[in-house]
Amino acid sequence: MSISLLTFVVALAVVVVLLGVVVGVLISRQSKELPPPDPDVAEQIDEQVAEQAPTIERPEEPRGSLIRLRARLARSQGSLGQGLLAILGRDRLDEAAWEEIEDTLLAADVGVVPTQEFIETLRTRLRVEGAQDPVRAKAVLRDELIKVVGPDFDRSLVSTGADGNPGVVLVVGVNGTGKTTTVGRIARALVAEDKTVLLGAADTFRAAAADQLQTWGERVGVLTVRGPEGGDPASVGFEAVKRGMEEGFDTVLVDTAGRLHTKAGLMDELGKVKRVIEKIAPVTEVLLVIDATTGQNGLTQARVFSEVVDVSGIVLTKLDGTAKGGIVIAVQRELGVPVKFVGLGEGVDDLAPFDPTEFVDALLDT
Ligand code: GDP
Repeated sequence: MSISLLTFVVALAVVVVLLGVVVGVLISRQSKELPPPDPDVAEQIDEQVAEQAPTIERPEEPRGSLIRLRARLARSQGSLGQGLLAILGRDRLDEAAWEEIEDTLLAADVGVVPTQEFIETLRTRLRVEGAQDPVRAKAVLRDELIKVVGPDFDRSLVSTGADGNPGVVLVVGVNGTGKTTTVGRIARALVAEDKTVLLGAADTFRAAAADQLQTWGERVGVLTVRGPEGGDPASVGFEAVKRGMEEGFDTVLVDTAGRLHTKAGLMDELGKVKRVIEKIAPVTEVLLVIDATTGQNGLTQARVFSEVVDVSGIVLTKLDGTAKGGIVIAVQRELGVPVKFVGLGEGVDDLAPFDPTEFVDALLDT
């Protein structure tokens, strides 16, 4: 190759590299100097984003929520399970040990009769199957606890009606037990299952109660039917269910006043709410909300409410605030109906469907 040709090639290469550098610099400057956004266009986009992402909340994934709630249950109820395991783990199970087991169960609000029966069966099984092996003893305890908690109850919420009617869920209980919170949480869970839900604020005695319910509804994009303050609770319940039928809702959740079970007039009114609603559609579920921290008092409430309305399921709230999880067993015995949900905190997703095996495993931390 001649020298002049070589010079030409080198010069050409230099020119190409320089050109590349200049073009690169230009492109990068251009991308940095984008014109400011047109305010009108920006506003339109903002509006679209607002429309696409309304402030309505989506409940937490059920799976994640259950794992979190199980950990919380284990934290509050662990002492019951660990207490029983510690006694069963001893070398000898003498009378004193069995008395301690009895005391532990009674202290956890299991109730006298279920405690006696439970101890009877556990003693017999451990005598036959041997209590020496702690792993075996724990398995027997787990098995018997699951049995006493009742694995055969149908614990599903009847949230849909027959013949094209909506499911009508009436939520009852004494003031402060967590009724409104429960209605709100169930609404969230149903919305997460893509069900259409309507709320009925049949607690017309306190405007604050209807406001609280409506706020729950608004958070998950659910409408609340309200009546005038001091108005007839039965007609609010009726109106909500009527609208639910006319507009094809899947479920109508009716929050009722926290009438004191000692006041006969108020209890009669609760019976009337149910009767009036049933003129147009069957009530598919009556959930009685009981505060787990109230012990015997909760059981008395359960008895009185079940005389006025046919309770079909129990919601045991505030189980996070007590180690007395045995109330699950006692209240089911008292009413013969299952605990369907447990409340394990004040958060929006802190209501869990009750599952006996999960419950016992949380007690025993297995
Ligand atoms: P209502 O009067 O029966 O409607 O009761 P509310 O729904 O207003 O609840 C009364 C209080 O109990 C509120 O402060 C709730 O946050 C609280 N609460 C409800 N459920 C639970 C629960 O499972 N755990 C705890 N720790 N607090 C709860």
